[in-house]
Amino acid sequence: MLDYVGLESDLGEEERLIRDTARRFVDERVRPDIGDHFEAGTFPTDLIPEMGEMGFYAPNLDGYGLPNVSETAYGILMQELEACDSGLRSMASVQGALVMYPIHAYGSDEQKERWLPALGEGEAVGCFGLTEPEHGSNPSAMETRAERDGDGYVLNGSKTWITNSPIADVAVVWARDTSADGSPVRGFLVETDRDGVTTAEIHDKLSLRASITGEISLQNARVPEENVLPGVSGMKGPLSCLTQARFGIAWGAVGAARDAFEQAREYALDRDQFGGPIARFQLQQEKLAEMATQITTAQLLAYRLAELKERGEMRPQHVSMAKRNNVRTARDQSRIAREMLGGNGITTDYSPMRHMANMETVYTYEGTHDIHTLVLGEDLTGIAAFE
Ligand SMILES: Cc1cc2nc3c(=O)[nH]c(=O)nc-3n(C[C@H](O)[C@H](O)[C@H](O)COP(=O)(O)OP(=O)(O)OC[C@H]3O[C@@H](n4cnc5c(N)ncnc54)[C@H](O)[C@@H]3O)c2cc1C
Repeated sequence: MLDYVGLESDLGEEERLIRDTARRFVDERVRPDIGDHFEAGTFPTDLIPEMGEMGFYAPNLDGYGLPNVSETAYGILMQELEACDSGLRSMASVQGALVMYPIHAYGSDEQKERWLPALGEGEAVGCFGLTEPEHGSNPSAMETRAERDGDGYVLNGSKTWITNSPIADVAVVWARDTSADGSPVRGFLVETDRDGVTTAEIHDKLSLRASITGEISLQNARVPEENVLPGVSGMKGPLSCLTQARFGIAWGAVGAARDAFEQAREYALDRDQFGGPIARFQLQQEKLAEMATQITTAQLLAYRLAELKERGEMRPQHVSMAKRNNVRTARDQSRIAREMLGGNGITTDYSPMRHMANMETVYTYEGTHDIHTLVLGEDLTGIAAFE
């Protein structure tokens, strides 16, 4: 497995254990069928509780049965899951970083007791509703409204492109509280079986096919006061969750790129043309050399990010740089890997084209590549160029 500068030799015991457990789980339980799921546009939902038992949801949080592992261990877990498929890592990212994290960081004791153990064990599924049909890159322009009504709120609006909404038990919905001064954005825990809530599935995706995506429609959906996340108000709520999830993506993308590289290397050594393996051609070696270099650079960035996060020194702009670079690397390098596999490379029998297709989503969600470029541009110049 590519680890060119030996970063894994510095891992602690817990981190190795998580890496090995995740690798084994992926190899035995997911990899054999992932191509079929991708083709069928399905997620292996039977594995959701099993992933919970393995501790794959928010293991970097503490309390409520969560093990509080290191940020490097969490990153390695995301890397190993995405080495199989971005859909698998998306499942763990959404459940852990986008649903459990806000409940853990901003929820009431009752909300934590009710949801964290169930979500952590995979007995309940959560989703994160921020994006709207008319507001993607600029979620602060959201139109979803929460209006006070007696001892609760009435929600109206629609969210789209929501990972797992059709199978979710609870949605963290971000909406403007129109009854408060300045209509601040608040987080609402919306059980999906409430009246007025529907979650239609989005079909026909050509990317992230082994992941369930849907809408959330809220039509006079009433939630009690105790379903509001009490500890946060404003865009800091959703943005802080995205920082957590993007950290996992920066790691996960390395896994996808590494898997594409390993398939290409193996194929190049096996595949004979013109009287010997194609790996003997300089053109093919240049591709492998470049891939290994780009992946190693991305890996270094991910490890450093985890160190900064562990020390409490990671800024959202650091995460933007790593998400932006590492996903671009995975997108570019999985394409080169696909190329090296010739005709066989366009089938689901091999992973590179699946990773390449998945990367179109990963490049777009959690802040598009362009948006992270603007985040860095603003950080480097002090001038915002978003509008
Ligand atoms: C499979 C999938 C799963 C997803 N899961 C979730 C989820 O679970 N929860 C959730 O809330 N969202 C989710 N998303 C939504 C995702 O976060 C958005 O698609 C993303 O934020 C981009 O928004 P948009 O698609 O509306 O594109 P737009 O914002 O319309 O952007 C279109 C293009 O314009 C560019 N652009 C926009 N603004 C600027 C600017 N200021 N300067 C230069 N270029 C700009 C963008 O980079 C992009 O190339 C998911 C998306 C996908 C595809």
